Amino acid sequence: MAKLDLPVYIKQELTVTIIDLSYQGLGVAKVEGYPLFIEGALPDEVVDVRVTKITKHFGYAQALKWQKFSPERVTDVDNRYLQTGIAPLQHMTYAAQLDFKRKIVTDLLKKAHLETIAVEKTRGMEHPFAYRNKAQVPVRKIDGQLEIGFFKHNSHDFIPMDNFLIQDKRIDEVLCSVRDILREFHIRAYNEVQHSGVVRHILVRRGYYSKQVMVVIVTRTAHLKYATEIAAKIQSECPDVLSVQQNVNSAKTNVILGAHTNVIAGTSEIEDQLNGLTFKISAQSFYQINPQQTEILYTEALKRAELTGDETVIDAYCGIGTISLNLAKQAKRVYGVEIVSEAITDAKRNAAVNGLGNVTFKTGEAEKWMEKWQTKGIKPNVIVVDPPRKGLTNSLIESACAMQPDRVVYVSCNPATLVRDIQKFMELGYNVSQPILPVDQFPQTTHVECVTVLSRTNLNDWD
Ligand code: SAH
Repeated sequence: MAKLDLPVYIKQELTVTIIDLSYQGLGVAKVEGYPLFIEGALPDEVVDVRVTKITKHFGYAQALKWQKFSPERVTDVDNRYLQTGIAPLQHMTYAAQLDFKRKIVTDLLKKAHLETIAVEKTRGMEHPFAYRNKAQVPVRKIDGQLEIGFFKHNSHDFIPMDNFLIQDKRIDEVLCSVRDILREFHIRAYNEVQHSGVVRHILVRRGYYSKQVMVVIVTRTAHLKYATEIAAKIQSECPDVLSVQQNVNSAKTNVILGAHTNVIAGTSEIEDQLNGLTFKISAQSFYQINPQQTEILYTEALKRAELTGDETVIDAYCGIGTISLNLAKQAKRVYGVEIVSEAITDAKRNAAVNGLGNVTFKTGEAEKWMEKWQTKGIKPNVIVVDPPRKGLTNSLIESACAMQPDRVVYVSCNPATLVRDIQKFMELGYNVSQPILPVDQFPQTTHVECVTVLSRTNLNDWD
């Protein structure tokens, strides 16, 4: 094999200047044009590093010593959160995090030669910690004791914790109570090497307004010893826990939840409010994890839909109907589609709970239903899409444009697929008509959420 002619070699120690931050939050330095990625390093810093991995086009290095720090560095951070990936941007000031998230979007647009599309400042939180309304925490045995914690990045090293930094503080307290109760009943923690033991994860959800708490104990075995006694103790120690459930996941997998969930005590769901609407949330349903920012996200999406009350609107990827019901308050009729049937059951119930009769929910692939609605002659004035990270398919974009809505409001959790999809919409006669708005749903992490409006240009008007 020909030797790679690279400007660095493995284990080489050198001093580099950080010129950028990758979208995963790694510092980027260039050695004769060859990029090196360095965890924990920030732009403008000068760092002594050791090369740890090289490939043909880029390499990785470990920071050894800082020669110069960035003014954007936060110094009093607990490294466990960086190591476990809970808060990979925690070492950056929040203002710099918000700029970074905006820059991810502008850089992607520039790469696609779309630099004329404007991007607003990222809408951030006042207190960017303790925001998560849901925790899914692994359980393991460390030094003979059942512990809750997190795994180090790319490793099987488990770090016990009782403060998870970005979760609702009450969720952390409930997690610690459940941990102590499981210890008291001598319940065994899961061992992934031997695929033995019982409790794999503890999932806790808490309503931001309702303050109702749900605890789900995820077990490898269908049988959980003392289940009733454990649930009773959890509810007596934490009176705000309305629901204790067991989810069984006996597979050798990284996926957290198994297919089957049963109620041990209390209700099968909790409820919460968003923008004044009530939502029932079950253990398995998707529900946005940052309630305060979700209200901003939905309000901004709704504003951009420009509804007057006469419109027909499609909400593709509707989950439990959170966006659909916000739209239904201001539109004539809303059609929602979602692939998870339990979510559609929740969505229908949520429509009824809120007394909104002008919504139709369908289970299935958004692509298929868009086509069906199109052939049925449904003419949406506005289409809202909120797809998972992989973004939209060509067929969905084609069906959407074929229906000729005035506007498409695109809520995106992945700017890379957003920019790719914008290009397809542009080929089909739609243009980004307002600055893209990033909303920080995930402070301290590298995730970026955006609202984009695509409006029909005159291109289609002659047909
Ligand atoms: N708009 C909702 C949900 C957004 S998350 C909210 O804000 O809460 C994206 C949703 O798309 C998930 O509920 C997921 O189950 C659903 N989904 C994924 N692929 C899909 C597909 N091909 N068709 C329809 N829904 C899909």
